[in-house]
Amino acid sequence: MSILKKLVFPPRCVACRCLLPFDGEGGERALCLDCRAEWEIEKLTRCPDCRRAMLDCRCMPDMIRNAGCAGLVRLVSYDPARPEGAANRITHNIKRIKDSDAFDFLTAQLLMPIQKRLEEFELEITDMTVTFCPRRHSARRKYGFDQSEQLARRLATLGGAKFVALLERRHTIFDREQKRLTAAERLENTSRAVRLTRAGCQAAGERVILLDDVVTTGATFSACADLLRGAGVQLVIGACLAVAVKKPRVKD
Ligand SMILES: [Zn+2]
Ligand SMILES: [Zn+2]
Repeated sequence: MSILKKLVFPPRCVACRCLLPFDGEGGERALCLDCRAEWEIEKLTRCPDCRRAMLDCRCMPDMIRNAGCAGLVRLVSYDPARPEGAANRITHNIKRIKDSDAFDFLTAQLLMPIQKRLEEFELEITDMTVTFCPRRHSARRKYGFDQSEQLARRLATLGGAKFVALLERRHTIFDREQKRLTAAERLENTSRAVRLTRAGCQAAGERVILLDDVVTTGATFSACADLLRGAGVQLVIGACLAVAVKKPRVKD
């Protein structure tokens, strides 16, 4: 961020929004020291199913596995019952504030676990095409950006991979927040929420990293993975900041 921009928009912690030093001194870039410590602890929290740290957890919602996704890298778990946690505040804020420092920090956090997972497939990130699960039109219009696209673009740049938008949103019948929809509306929406872009239709044989910020029900993520596999994509590896541990409450 330029000095002038920092004077007009002083850097703030992406979790608690406190003011940060201008120069990121002492490691306080994107997060203040307290929130950074909390974030590191959340990364070590064990998965309730496999008891591994979230970074090493291989659990994947069946829906995502069935869609042909070969892995899902995540950093932390998302617990809707703990809105005050650092991870929850980060994922909440990056949907609303386009904070370059935060996106750079989170992308850097994702890079190594993704590289580690790719090694298992004898692949490097430079062999991959990076794409993302697109945000709803209404939300993109409201906030002016797509947080998953931000992560995907930066990951491609950081790792030397190719970034291509392979998927796009359709205009859905119920363009409200997923969590405010009834189960029937949600199902109807998800089945027609995304489609391949022109580039996506020509992605046969590619190996793809599919980025999303948070995987909650896994419905949209599965729909995206399914479309990519249907287009002939050879390998889909998912990556996100957080996976929901508990089923989020659905208001009917
Ligand atoms: Zn903070
Ligand atoms: Zn697990």
